[in-house]
Amino acid sequence: MSHALKPFASNAVARLRDQREEEGIRPIQARGWRAPRCRACRVIESHCLCAWRPQVETRSGVCLIMTNKEVFKPSNTGWLIADVVRDNHAFIWSRTEVDQQLLQLLSDPQWQPYLVFPGEYVEPERVTHGVEADSTRRPLFILLDATWTEARKIFRKSPYFDALPILSLLPEKLSRYRLRRSTRSEHLCTAEVAALCLDLAGDVEAASALDAYFDVFSQHYLDAKHQLEMNVATPAHAELMPFVQNAVPVTG
Ligand SMILES: [Zn+2]
Repeated sequence: MSHALKPFASNAVARLRDQREEEGIRPIQARGWRAPRCRACRVIESHCLCAWRPQVETRSGVCLIMTNKEVFKPSNTGWLIADVVRDNHAFIWSRTEVDQQLLQLLSDPQWQPYLVFPGEYVEPERVTHGVEADSTRRPLFILLDATWTEARKIFRKSPYFDALPILSLLPEKLSRYRLRRSTRSEHLCTAEVAALCLDLAGDVEAASALDAYFDVFSQHYLDAKHQLEMNVATPAHAELMPFVQNAVPVTG
């Protein structure tokens, strides 16, 4: 069965990487990662993820605030969010300058921006734990895609975020999420946080697709790292399958 495919979302993180490279900024080559990587998904070519990119509709948008290092990291998960959420934006944070396009985005009346950050570090009156159902303004989740230390610095030193409501994910939501997904790590990565935000906003399909996509990415990434054969017969692949149009199970 063939039907016209909608183009994939344009990935703002990939655009940032391309721009940086054009400016002559190169990532530091990590040791032990000599095998060529796919340009489109950053995974080692033999374990390319491209056939597994999901397509879903989302009402919410995302805006990633990144460090330069993060843009080049093959393990960065903001990239995955930008693959899934059609309205995605990404900016490199700088303490001294602010991108005018970011300011425009924050003041765009079609969006209700939420800065996603732990509530205990913020004045309580700014903190919210839910996403308002608003028929005129769509939620825009601003995610600080950086290490925790960097994220705190970004939070403190970006006055243009001072007026925004803070979306703080409740501990019980987080632990329920961890249980459901049997997440190994103590801290959720940016893609997992984004999936929780999408779920809160009622973008339930996109939340599930992103969760499954993240699992599949982790699998491909780790299998490549450990020089294992690519295995597409995992529960994560099965979970992702309904969101993948035209997915061709890749062999070899
Ligand atoms: Zn690829």
